[in-house]
Order: sequence, then structure tokens, then C-alpha cells
Amino acid sequence: MTLPRRHTSLSEIRDAVATARGQGQRIALVPTMGALHEGHLSLVRKAQDNADHVIVSIFVNPTQFAPTEDFASYPRDAEADIRALAGLGVESVFLPVQEEMYPAGFATGITIGGPATGLESDSRPHFFNGVALVVTKLLLACQPDIAVFGEKDYQQLCVIRQLVRDLNIPVTILAAPTVREADGLAMSSRNRYLDEDARRRAALLPEVLRDTLQALSECAGADRQEEALLRKSIARLTEGGFRVEYLSLRDAETLAPPTDDSRRLRLLVAAWLEKTRLIDNMAFERPD
Ligand code: AMP
Repeated sequence: MTLPRRHTSLSEIRDAVATARGQGQRIALVPTMGALHEGHLSLVRKAQDNADHVIVSIFVNPTQFAPTEDFASYPRDAEADIRALAGLGVESVFLPVQEEMYPAGFATGITIGGPATGLESDSRPHFFNGVALVVTKLLLACQPDIAVFGEKDYQQLCVIRQLVRDLNIPVTILAAPTVREADGLAMSSRNRYLDEDARRRAALLPEVLRDTLQALSECAGADRQEEALLRKSIARLTEGGFRVEYLSLRDAETLAPPTDDSRRLRLLVAAWLEKTRLIDNMAFERPD
């Protein structure tokens, strides 16, 4: 098992990229915050299928956390992460340091609208501007041909596509489907915050999403019926101990509320189970 090369400075990662490019290699970036699980590893495999040299970045980005959120306690285990990446034969791990990403006097921000509006932004207004900023910095540092993101964070994926389009960043964004546990719960680094009992109950979230999609497919797009179904699903989650922030059916591309003509939709949810905030989403094709 060959360990991936570790790069912690911008000059190191730029050198590695220049060397790989000089050898005619196609470069892929998989940005992560570490605490890697099978979901992240599926992104790496997709990157490997589409490039010769894969860079996985691991950086817990402070600008996407509010002061009240879990930046300090977010799980960090770079050594275990690097072992997992070695198992896949990843070429490079980029572990940028805070001082180089956000040095004293840092004064630049990105404000993103469009798909960043609403849903996550209603309770985390700082979040997508922070994500857009760090992803831009990582893309500039690594200048990959492709970058891979998970559908697990569906609104984030739409935001990144918007960002890359608006700023003319020369990279192809690939999406990878959500990887789930055996009981359907979407894998997430934050799942380790759940105690045993909460972990068992968390499976209700994907179950309700699936049942809602099934019911939606039977109600033939009648607006009021859709709203009533969503209200019923929220009530079911609430009975199951969740505090629902949103359960919303959106246009899959713009994330705007669907019009009568929208066919490709996405059902998105954010809900608290005790002290853990879970998000999930599933695709829905509205029947004609
Ligand atoms: P994070 O480390 O949580 O910031 O996630 C890094 C990347 O992994 C993002 O593109 C996520 O959407 C993706 N990701 C996280 N969990 C999953 C999952 N269960 N399945 C697929 N991709 C995921």
C-alpha cells in the first residue's frame, strides 16, 4: 500500500499539480472536511474513474461555521483518513493550514444567491458564502480538470455549479449519488454525534422521504395535495422525535419552488434529532 503524498502548503500542491500535468495527467479534486466514510470514498472512486491523479483535500473550513456551530468539536482524524485513502491508491492529500488559507488581514468574501437562497440558508445564512469561498480557494490551488461533489449535500452541489458557471472557473463538476447505511440513513461525518438510541431512530428520516415520494407519485402533481402530503410527513417526523427545519419539494435544477411545468424535482429535508442536525434529499420525477 503506497501512502498518498501529503501537501500542506500551496506551493507544494502547486508543484505536485504542475508535475502531474507535465506528465499529461488529468487531475481530479475531491474536497472534504475529513472524518472520511464510504460516502467520501465513493467520490474518490468516481474521481479515479475520470482522472489520472486524484487530490483529496481535507480542511475543516471555519468560514462555513457560525460561532454557535460545531467547528471546534467537528471530528478530525487525518491519520485514519490518509490510511483509508492509501487503500484506494490516491496520489495526493492536500491538508491546507489555516494560516495560509485565511491569514491575518484576510478581507475577501463571496456572496452567492440563486440556489443558495432559502432551505439551508434560512437557518445557516453564513454557510454557502463560506463554502463558495473555500471551494474557490481549493479550485485555484489545485486547478483540477474535474471536481467531485456528493448529492448528499444537494443544495451545496447546485451552489457549486452556479459558482463555477458565474466565475468561469475552468473545471467540470461531477456529482456522485448518496451512499447510505443498511437502514437507509445517509452516511455523514456528523452521524457519529448520534447515541445508540438516536442512531436507531434516525432511520425514520430516509423512510419518510421514500414514503413521501411514493405518495407524491400517486397524487399526480396537484399542488394542494403535494402540500398536504408534505405536512403529513413533517407530522410523522415530529412524532418520531425530529424537529423539522424544512421538508421541501423544489425544482431539481434551480431549487426554486416548482412551477406547474417542473418535472425533475428534489425533495429536501433538514431536521434535528436531539443535538444532531441531519440533512437528506431524494430525486422525484413528477408524473405527467
Ligand atoms: P464533507 O466532508 O461532509 O464536507 O463532504 C465532502 C463531500 O462528500 C461533499 O461533496 C459531500 O456531499 C460528500 N458526501 C458526504 N456524505 C456523502 C454520502 N453519504 N454520499 C455521497 N457523498 C457524500
